[in-house]
Amino acid sequence: AKGLGKNQQCLYTEEMGVQEVRKMELEKDLQRALELKEFFIVYQPKWNVKSNRLVGFEALIRWNHPRLGIISPLEFIPIAEETGLIIPMTRWTLEEACKQCRAWKDRGIVQPVSVNLSIRLFHGDNLLELVRNVLDKAELDPHLLELEITESMVLHDVNDIIRQLENIRALGVKVSMDDFGTGYSSIGLLDRIPIDALKLDRLFTNDLDTPSKRAIINAIVLMAENLNLDVIAEGVENKEHIDFLTGLGCHVMQGYYYGKPMDIDEIDVWMYEQDHK
Ligand code: C2E
Ligand code: CA
Ligand code: CA
Ligand code: CA
Repeated sequence: AKGLGKNQQCLYTEEMGVQEVRKMELEKDLQRALELKEFFIVYQPKWNVKSNRLVGFEALIRWNHPRLGIISPLEFIPIAEETGLIIPMTRWTLEEACKQCRAWKDRGIVQPVSVNLSIRLFHGDNLLELVRNVLDKAELDPHLLELEITESMVLHDVNDIIRQLENIRALGVKVSMDDFGTGYSSIGLLDRIPIDALKLDRLFTNDLDTPSKRAIINAIVLMAENLNLDVIAEGVENKEHIDFLTGLGCHVMQGYYYGKPMDIDEIDVWMYEQDHK
């Protein structure tokens, strides 16, 4: 048994080694991924169940690594944040998403697109300027752009972030609070942070089994209503989720049930299918 233990120890450190090596490789390759045009964006539909209509898309970044294939943002966004690359990367994502939104609009598909922000953007040069420039360049109506922030962001420098968000919203851009209810709680700040919507994290949607879990979602939806915030449920995967959420008065949903994140060609097919249902 002792010998086996030693073996396992050995395998374990080797395994760690593989992960370390991968991270180092990604770190190095990420530097040039932007100029090599290895990123692309997928779009996930947001659906209003009440009106039975598409109400927007969320832009989600992907990295097509030449050797390792498609890499999840969960793996490379933290590296991009560490290295500061998140700033040019987000600028690119904003530009792409706004260009695409404008292209859809020109085809009569008028749908807002949302882009995820990282905290680093609020500490960088000038987020307001960046957003304004990107909108100008794409000649996009600011009302068609939404920015998604997370709770943990607002816990630091609350006043500064509130000020920046107010300026951005004054342009007409919408702001939503992503992953609401997970991680650090910003509940005591919700009446001060200038946002338009709460996105209910998919951990809630996927955990409706107990009455107490349901009570928490119920409370969040009621609170949002009273604060005049829209609620978007994430991770909606089946009828049971939809029935429960609509029962609570939550009508806007995002999840695999309605559509996975898709590239623009897949989105065209998806939209055609919706029109011919
Ligand atoms: P998020 O903003 O919460 O995005 C939603 C994630 O949930 C996406 O994962 C999406 O594919 C996944 N998802 C959507 N519907 C379902 C469902 O029904 N079931 C399940 N199990 N999952 C679902 P993705 O695209 O891998 O993105 C992961 C996270 O990476 C995002 O979480 C966001 O925090 C971050 N991210 C993605 N793109 C960007 C970006 O351009 N910039 C920044 N800063 N972060 C990004
Ligand atoms: Ca998001
Ligand atoms: Ca989310
Ligand atoms: Ca999330």
